[in-house]
Amino acid sequence: MSTVSPPGAPVPGQLTFVARPRAKPARHLADLTMAERRAAVAELGEKPFRADQLSRHYFEKLNSDPSLMTDLPAAAREKLTTALFPTLLTSVREMTTDSGTTRKMLWRLFDGALVESVLMRYTDRTTMCVSSQAGCGMNCPFCATGQAGLTRNMTTAEIVEQVVAGARALASGDVPGGPGRVNNVVFMGMGEPLANYKAVIGAVRRMVEPAPDGLGISARGITVSTVGLVPAIGKLADEGLPVTLAVSLHAPDDELRDTLVPINTRWKVAEVLDAAWEYTAKTKRRVSIEYALIKDINDQEWRADLLGRLIKNQLVHVNLIPLNPTPGSKWTASRPEDERAFVRRLESHGVPVTVRDTRGREIDGACGQLAAAE
Ligand code: SAH
Repeated sequence: MSTVSPPGAPVPGQLTFVARPRAKPARHLADLTMAERRAAVAELGEKPFRADQLSRHYFEKLNSDPSLMTDLPAAAREKLTTALFPTLLTSVREMTTDSGTTRKMLWRLFDGALVESVLMRYTDRTTMCVSSQAGCGMNCPFCATGQAGLTRNMTTAEIVEQVVAGARALASGDVPGGPGRVNNVVFMGMGEPLANYKAVIGAVRRMVEPAPDGLGISARGITVSTVGLVPAIGKLADEGLPVTLAVSLHAPDDELRDTLVPINTRWKVAEVLDAAWEYTAKTKRRVSIEYALIKDINDQEWRADLLGRLIKNQLVHVNLIPLNPTPGSKWTASRPEDERAFVRRLESHGVPVTVRDTRGREIDGACGQLAAAE
């Protein structure tokens, strides 16, 4: 098997929107709408209703093993599953922490590219953090994924398969806490989801469509996190999918944001925030502003004050993320007293603030630590 070697590390500020063209993974049932599945099944010489049966197996029972599809004629099973359930993700390694309730899964894709996803089980819900690209072209200097560069976009089915893998682990009782379901999906793994727009929207549709078309997860439980690709935020607002939008702001002023989130050289803080307010106006969904607190870089009280003035009186909340360490970075998380002062200053503007309960740091599975190395 040929393997995809990762691209060279980008130079500071370099943005990569399109990866070198590569062979695409085989088509999978999860890439297709129900109408397309029926057409695909008919093309294979089977009755279109077989598409509904296959969809029930996959999205309801989380099953793609032909030997368990006893409602299908034996001859059709092999043919249909070979054609519609190619192996897209191969497990390389799984690491767990928090007594088994946080699990990082490392996957090899068909071409050797590596991606990671993280399952986090809480008392009342389970969240799957998924990757949308192998690597990332957005080059944020504090993020391990960004430092490695973009390998390629993932397909809709490659994204969906990560959720299905998590759902299988939960359904089988493999995760402490008894059998469970995936309630939330966050596009906060590797990649910039809005730079892989079409595949990501397809994946969101598969996640929210009720069975047998899809997994039936509430759109409200799905969060798309972006560096701030303004035109794509506008498009997302018109999809009729009330997903939660999270914007990785990290600085309220252009001077600093140009260096922390290099896409800011294209779309400035004011433009990103305008796009966010348009998103709330159209979807009535509260936008989340992500802000990684980096000691002595972006955690000054005056920046909290400026941020508060920019976003007050909007349908918004701020999610502060204590910076997670990444290889080769000199930056660290803010001092506790600076974090507290930052929170107070924001709250003085009436802005709701939460500090993310970051999971998985011990297994390099926390925000910004996914580098998918073997
Ligand atoms: N590309 C998307 C999703 C990536 S990760 C985005 O940028 O929004 C999800 C969040 O983790 C982003 O807000 C990202 O900026 C943040 N993050 C990246 N590296 C981090 C680090 N080292 N510590 C804390 N948060 C980090």
